[in-house]
Amino acid sequence: MREAITVRDLSYTYSDGTRALEDVNMAVYEGERVAIVGPNGAGKTTFLLHLNGILHSTEGQVEVFGTSLDKVKREEIIKDVGIVFQDPDDQLFMPTLFDDLAFGPMNLGLKEEEVRERVKNALSTLRLSGYENRCPHHLSYGEKKKASLAAVMSMEPRILVLDEPTANLDPRSRAELVGIIKELNEREGITIVIATHDVNAVPALANRVYVLNKKIIAEGTSQKIFS
Ligand code: ADP
Repeated sequence: MREAITVRDLSYTYSDGTRALEDVNMAVYEGERVAIVGPNGAGKTTFLLHLNGILHSTEGQVEVFGTSLDKVKREEIIKDVGIVFQDPDDQLFMPTLFDDLAFGPMNLGLKEEEVRERVKNALSTLRLSGYENRCPHHLSYGEKKKASLAAVMSMEPRILVLDEPTANLDPRSRAELVGIIKELNEREGITIVIATHDVNAVPALANRVYVLNKKIIAEGTSQKIFS
């Protein structure tokens, strides 16, 4: 199986001296659903931000489909790796949902027709058809979470990285989102990496789990890790 993401000896220290990651090694294979679990402050978000070049460390290496992120421009990385932030307000900033979903594809320089097609498909995938003209800030929290995933899906990434996708959702919205994430993986073959401290959702969300607490302290199937 081909490696979608390869991380070698990745360490990261914030400018105030906080050591957030220590020698992290990870391989995510194409088509897998992998969860990264660990307590608050374990370094999960810091780790995810390295997967599409938002953060960059001089200690260690991240490769996407075999290419080191050191060697490609950020515009190229974001075509392959889409990140859904924990807080949807970090993702949604335009006056309408259409504009938010069109923003990324327009910046890729795609033609208007193609942009419209992508927005339509992403809304449909997230069960948000008809929401084009809604103001993102007036949506419910569950709708915002779906909208922020739709904004990433309109970029048609091959790898989807989600930071705490189920946090603060009611049981119905949580079940819906878990179903959609599984569908994206199983039907569209998108490789999924999820950071979460919602361990109850892990068996449904992931085939394989890494336990992170600054370092990787365990790795295995969901069954193995939780038994
Ligand atoms: P998690 O996502 O697992 O909760 P984070 O990656 O957010 O963990 O944080 C890992 C560590 O890095 C924590 O100690 C946190 O306080 C610290 N940290 C996060 N962001 C910053 C920052 N911008 N500057 C300094 N320290 C940070």
